Amino acid sequence: MSEKQTILENFLGTTCAGCGGAKRPRMSHCAGCYHSLPRKMQSELYRRFGEGYEAAFTASVEWLHARAAGEVR
Ligand SMILES: [Zn+2]
Repeated sequence: MSEKQTILENFLGTTCAGCGGAKRPRMSHCAGCYHSLPRKMQSELYRRFGEGYEAAFTASVEWLHARAAGEVR
């Protein structure tokens, strides 16, 4: 499966890639993860597929995982 497909499936699915919890379909992350992101990252998640969403999503997941590991405050 391509990375692009994985990202699309996550977008349509109900599992938050940031924390593994539940999220609403067609949202990037659960509300808690989304609101913990820096504002710039939040706004980048409004990009469209093929116009930067994939990169923004990947960066946000990496940021959330780093934060969960205590690397970001
Ligand atoms: Zn989450």
